[in-house]
Amino acid sequence: MERHDYHVDQVPGGHRPLAAWKGKDRIGGNVLSTLTIILKTAGCRWNRCRMCSYRHVRLEGCGTGDISSPVMSQVEWIGRHFSPDDIEAVKIYTSGSFFDPKEVPLPARNAMGHLARGKIVIAETRPEFVTEDAVRSFLEIIDDGTHRTPLYVAMGLETTNDMVREKCINKGFSLRDFLHASRIARSEGAGVKAYLLAKPPFLTEREAIEDMASSIRDCSTMADLVSLNPCSVQKGTELEYYWKMGSYRPPYLWSILSILARAPIHVTCDPLGGGRERGAHNCGKCDRPLLDGIRSYSLSADRSLLCELLETDCTCRGEWDFVLRNERPFCMPLTR
Ligand code: SF4
Ligand SMILES: [Zn+2]
Repeated sequence: MERHDYHVDQVPGGHRPLAAWKGKDRIGGNVLSTLTIILKTAGCRWNRCRMCSYRHVRLEGCGTGDISSPVMSQVEWIGRHFSPDDIEAVKIYTSGSFFDPKEVPLPARNAMGHLARGKIVIAETRPEFVTEDAVRSFLEIIDDGTHRTPLYVAMGLETTNDMVREKCINKGFSLRDFLHASRIARSEGAGVKAYLLAKPPFLTEREAIEDMASSIRDCSTMADLVSLNPCSVQKGTELEYYWKMGSYRPPYLWSILSILARAPIHVTCDPLGGGRERGAHNCGKCDRPLLDGIRSYSLSADRSLLCELLETDCTCRGEWDFVLRNERPFCMPLTR
């Protein structure tokens, strides 16, 4: 799933969503006011990605009980706390897949659709839960004819390289699965959004940049919207174990900037934990302006800003150059 900072407007306790906040996003060339919602659900059924801690976030006792009503209560809470009038788009995340009926039971999914009717909806899911039926029935609820593409099915493709996705992330699906799900989504009139992951474990800084460069190139013809998530070190993950051993460093912000600048399309990016040692970071002195710049590029799509940022004068620029030239791939077996 897309990396989220749960500390932003976190909603504590009860049958409330994990988080919900209003903001601005660039979607299909327009800057829209968005409502982002993270529902607490039965949790991700795959549950195995090396860098993911969100999969641990799930409703208590959902293995035995009916989760319809807690998820429904969260949808009702959103209806009570946010007026639809000043919202143009709704981004829906769970700690897994919105279209997994075991995670988000159909009545709750439909209720979410009624709340978001007339808005552009971006809903995240693994590809195996993208079915004609799920996409069609949800689209029928949200589409009131206002938007040409009322729904974007968003998937954490992470990279277009199957080897990297399997060995470095353990994502459990292939590019073929993503393309198959995309065809289904498009056949029902939905768009496709791809999330990419910059620098999963086991890649050098340079390999990570090249992996993202080719993935964005591929996605420019496969997805309508592309978002880049610099990998961050979350608690209780396999990635944290490597990080604690000194075997992993999150990407430099220089790398993120160069990936965005080389991209043939506009790619949005909001680095989670940026500037901190667990997130994408540089030396600490230049991080803040670069992060601000990356976030404003996400909204404005102004490429001249990226060029200016890449010219920022800081001593860590030389360090990054050195890393790109000298870091060698891990000689560690990737399987046991
Ligand atoms: S698919 Fe992977 S990244 Fe997404 S929620 Fe499940 S374990 Fe986490
Ligand atoms: Zn610096």
